[in-house]
Amino acid sequence: MDDRSTLKTRLAAAIAARRGAMLATLKAVVEARSFSGHEEAAQAVMRRELEAAGFAIESIPVFPTAMTGNPLYSPVVKELHGCHNLLARMTAAGSQGRSLMVSGHVDVVPTGPEALWQTPPFATRTEDGWFYGRGAGDMKGGLVAALTGIRALADLGLQPAGPLWFNTVVEEECTGNGALATVEHLKQHGIRIDAMLDPEPFGESIMSGQVGTVWAQYILTGRPAHAMEAQKGLNPIEAAMHVWRRLKEVEARWNPPHALHPLFGGHPHPLNFNLGKIAGGEWASSVPTTCRVDFRFGIYPGRDPAEAKREVEAAIRAAVAELPEPPRCEVGYEGFHAPGCVVDLDAAPMRLLAACHTEVNGSPPPSYAATGTTDVRLFQLGAGIASTCYGPRAQRIHALDECVEIASMERVALVYALFIAGWCGVEAAAP
Ligand SMILES: [Zn+2]
Repeated sequence: MDDRSTLKTRLAAAIAARRGAMLATLKAVVEARSFSGHEEAAQAVMRRELEAAGFAIESIPVFPTAMTGNPLYSPVVKELHGCHNLLARMTAAGSQGRSLMVSGHVDVVPTGPEALWQTPPFATRTEDGWFYGRGAGDMKGGLVAALTGIRALADLGLQPAGPLWFNTVVEEECTGNGALATVEHLKQHGIRIDAMLDPEPFGESIMSGQVGTVWAQYILTGRPAHAMEAQKGLNPIEAAMHVWRRLKEVEARWNPPHALHPLFGGHPHPLNFNLGKIAGGEWASSVPTTCRVDFRFGIYPGRDPAEAKREVEAAIRAAVAELPEPPRCEVGYEGFHAPGCVVDLDAAPMRLLAACHTEVNGSPPPSYAATGTTDVRLFQLGAGIASTCYGPRAQRIHALDECVEIASMERVALVYALFIAGWCGVEAAAP
């Protein structure tokens, strides 16, 4: 056996020996329920685990008002605004090798009705090799897997020969302002990062790029009336349904076969307009006063979100204007203002990542063009860092009975350990 093959075998054994500890960490961090805006408990678990792995940790506050001038800033969703990131640097790492940052988010999305889960979303469980819980897949399983790979290197008496950073951020699921705060910190302090990997749960594929994402709202105000004389009123919920049908026509125009993008090749529908939330009305026997629709739309990489917003807003206003009596209409933007981006799979870190995947799995990784956004855009567009996503297999993220595959986490841990050995280099740890 050559050295590399020996290293792989020894790392795999170290990771297998860590399976219990890996799952205990995953359980602790998933059960620390951390909806966007409320990430403190999960960050406390990550702080403990990162310190145990030999990282020195700095808290990076996320102050939106300080970032509004950054073109990658997204307008805050007030009730979803988070607190601070953890920016951790491995103290024992050498300085001769290339640097790597592993970055991922600790916030999770709402559970939906808990009664519809087979078991409650934060009462974690393992079944048939899958670990269940909100956030297990998206994306605490990936964070814990990457950290397990790092710890396995230490188990073998090895330390990275270049700077190794581990960044856990808040507020990825609604704005990305968490990762943006880290990017601004790196720039302010002149910290150079040579590659960034984000262990999002994309099934051990290498992400080749991602769409842009925008959150928007329209709020219609009608005229309330008693239902028995509804003709005297103006129903904003019915108006909102009409506006939404017009927006679905915009969606159809933006997607294949009318609009194509090389990154998405044969994908039939990369750009989704999603009506995510609707609120309005008082009760069944009154014509409602207001209706608010929160929706999300995708845009192709290369398109300016501000320009896309103008097209969408014009469609909303045109749809309102064609109603027999137009309700008052306000359009707002809270949440993602995110351009898309494309990953250069020929860049050195992506080639090495593919080689490490092949070494572990016996065949090259698929590439994956994401129809949602990730923090990769902030590191790539905001700091020029070669960045991609590589993480474990998960099922039903953002849905019911979310879970992550434990064997996949172990393979991902091994790929991360081999990647660090190849990218940063490794050296014997000081005794
Ligand atoms: Zn995610």
